[in-house]
Amino acid sequence: FDQLEGNIWLDGAILAWNQAKIHIMTHALHYGTSVYEGIRSRNGVLFRGFLHYQRFLESANLLDFQIPYSVCQLVQATQLLLDATHYHFGYVRALAWCGSQSMFVSHRQSNVHTAIMIWERPMPYSTKHYEKGLHLHISSWRRPDPRSAPVHSKASGLYMISAMAKRTAELKGFDDAVLLDTQDRIAEASSSNIFFVKDGKLLTPFPHSFLKGLTRAFVIEQAKKRGIDVQETDIFLSDLPLMDSAFLTGTAVGIVPIASILSDSKVYKFYPDTVTRNLQLIHKETFDLL
Ligand code: PMP
Repeated sequence: FDQLEGNIWLDGAILAWNQAKIHIMTHALHYGTSVYEGIRSRNGVLFRGFLHYQRFLESANLLDFQIPYSVCQLVQATQLLLDATHYHFGYVRALAWCGSQSMFVSHRQSNVHTAIMIWERPMPYSTKHYEKGLHLHISSWRRPDPRSAPVHSKASGLYMISAMAKRTAELKGFDDAVLLDTQDRIAEASSSNIFFVKDGKLLTPFPHSFLKGLTRAFVIEQAKKRGIDVQETDIFLSDLPLMDSAFLTGTAVGIVPIASILSDSKVYKFYPDTVTRNLQLIHKETFDLL
């Protein structure tokens, strides 16, 4: 990634990709005081940029620091970068972090830095995966209790859990992991939200302990528009035999069906049904129209 071409927006300046550097004494690197955002672009057009940047500012507020730019300024800065690229499936990464002014644990004296970068990032799974589904297992890691961490912030520090869950899943031959919360409820996958279809109804975990994904919001909105019943509810492993279909949603992955979930020695199997297929199609068409 340090070899990519293009520009990076850093604190209001446009720098060549290789010139955007930080000091080793950066507070965020030592203490996890950073937040980020991931946004899709298609042929230079941002998908729901305003909502993503709103969440970006809220993520920082939840960690008790302020990003010194408005949503409009961040969208404009991103468009400036996008206008200079020709990415087909662009992925915009915005990052805000506490800098190197102080090594005290409190970030009270730290300056906040902001950067925006874009690279070409096609959908991560193969066509076969988008048709037949992913094989997942239940991670031994849990989403933290909302009293233990700012679980609704897209805080970089929380991604240590995602990284470990995903890495273990891959080492064991799975595509990804599903994390439960501390109350044994199904929460989400390592970097995407989870949905189930039961008797034509859409069920998704209530976001007690995880990020309220914007793709999740898109799916809920589109399903309701089409008269599909959507319920945010607590879902346990014992509910899985009743589910007909399941899928994951996220900015990077899009909408991808789940073929199976392994928990201890039990395998729960799912088949993409028409509800899942239609939502995949609506999502794809929305992007094709950008
Ligand atoms: N949960 C986690 C932990 C994530 O990293 C993501 C990806 N941002 C999501 C859920 C899905 O969120 P979104 O649809 O906004 O990308």
